[in-house]
Amino acid sequence: MQHRRLETLDDYDERGFSAHVTCSCGRIELVPICTLRAACARIGAGETIAAIAPHLRCQKCGARSPTIIPFRAPY
Ligand SMILES: [Zn+2]
Repeated sequence: MQHRRLETLDDYDERGFSAHVTCSCGRIELVPICTLRAACARIGAGETIAAIAPHLRCQKCGARSPTIIPFRAPY
């Protein structure tokens, strides 16, 4: 089985990934990839994790560019 690199949010979405979005203040939010894709579409950012991060804002402290770690949801 060939391992294909996951690059775009589309790649992750296709495989049923979600993402942990972690702010420097310690707030962690579980966000489905499809939600990140919708945000990309709305603001016109490229559909990659690097592209969307600067547009995400923490709901607790207001900081931008959280750390986004994709993971495969266990279902
Ligand atoms: Zn924060």
